[in-house]
Amino acid sequence: MQETKVLLLKYGEIALKGLNRSNFEKLLEQNIINAIRNYKNLGNKKNLYFNIEREQSIMTVSCEDINFDIDNLIPVLSKVFGIVTINSAVKTEKNIEKIKEIALKYIAPVLENKKSFGVLAKRSDKSFAIKSPEIALQVGDVLFENNKNIKVDLKNPEVWVAVEIRNNGAFIHASNVKYKGAGGMPTGSNGAGLLLLSGGIDSPVAGYMMARRGMKISVLHFTSEPYTSERAKEKVLRLSKILSQYCGDIKFYAVSLTEIQESIRQYCAEDYTTVLLRRFMIKIAGEIAKSNYLDCVITGESLGQVASQTIQAIKVIYDNINIPVFRPCIGLDKSQIIETAEKIGTYETSVEPYEDCCSIFTPRHPVTKPKLESVLTEENRIADAADLIERAISNSNIDKDNVNL
Ligand code: ATP
Ligand code: MG
Repeated sequence: MQETKVLLLKYGEIALKGLNRSNFEKLLEQNIINAIRNYKNLGNKKNLYFNIEREQSIMTVSCEDINFDIDNLIPVLSKVFGIVTINSAVKTEKNIEKIKEIALKYIAPVLENKKSFGVLAKRSDKSFAIKSPEIALQVGDVLFENNKNIKVDLKNPEVWVAVEIRNNGAFIHASNVKYKGAGGMPTGSNGAGLLLLSGGIDSPVAGYMMARRGMKISVLHFTSEPYTSERAKEKVLRLSKILSQYCGDIKFYAVSLTEIQESIRQYCAEDYTTVLLRRFMIKIAGEIAKSNYLDCVITGESLGQVASQTIQAIKVIYDNINIPVFRPCIGLDKSQIIETAEKIGTYETSVEPYEDCCSIFTPRHPVTKPKLESVLTEENRIADAADLIERAISNSNIDKDNVNL
């Protein structure tokens, strides 16, 4: 058997899920397949075939074409939720002589110029006759014979060499050369939500945080043509694309608020503009979520950040909403949100200066502690509110903007 370079994917939390475990694993496997499919499509690599094997709480990915360096997939797979670590390893047959040969070929070069190493062996296939300490000893010997300048240290070596004897083969890798995965739970394992995505910094982070807990994300973006431009919407599509590297394909809904905003301006007191608009936005979001079988609405609100995010405003805006609303950024400071935005790669796009529907007709003195009674009085001045909502939803453009990488 020719040895193969593989990526060893380890998952944390999902391994704890008892009876559901195999469902989680299937989902994770499917998400890995989708991420690889997108990678192939993007890079024009349609002729490459990859093998994914699932085996005792790890997965391995390899490529049938030996000229393809499997490490190229590390940046792709490190965005798939549910994977905790990724190791670049070599898989070979379960034969101690072959294992030593592979250690010399692939690990010895890694040990050059290193001060110390240790070997850890793990034998989850108990039918393999040689016990773990003996495997470690034999592999350690050949590596040391090859490089007498290095010390063996079994407490805190510079490089840990790992040999894993599993049902589907023997795996050898330098176990402290590992890459961090995205962690969390496989996308799709915890329901589906409608993310209200503006072009700002906070809402992409909110979507990422919920997706990381396993939620499948759809996006709703509000526009206000001609006050907002096609380029502002295009920016939000780009943000959705960045998010889809983590959460897979995203359905994108765009709803125009122009008519509603003009009615608010015409009939209602200026100071209430933002609160009233946000009530319309949330009502529309709730309707779209329900008619598309989405379990909840997600926003990027952070307590006290702006006038419409005081506790009094939130109470009034979400009065009478009967769908769960998640605001994962609610307790985060702006600097923490920015840190995540930078990490996931949305920050640079978010700070591009385009207009948002919420910044159109903004009042000079927005109410920061609105009373429900006064808000309802203002809202009731718009006699055809229900029709406006219905029209906005029926004019929404839905399928044509699906975000696939
Ligand atoms: P963000 O940085 O996400 O824009 P923000 O702090 O600027 O948030 P607001 O503009 O008040 O706050 O918006 C609060 C939340 O309302 C946003 O996080 C987002 O979820 C939603 N939202 C705002 N504008 C839009 C829009 N044009 N389309 C969809 N959702 C929006
Ligand atoms: Mg905003």
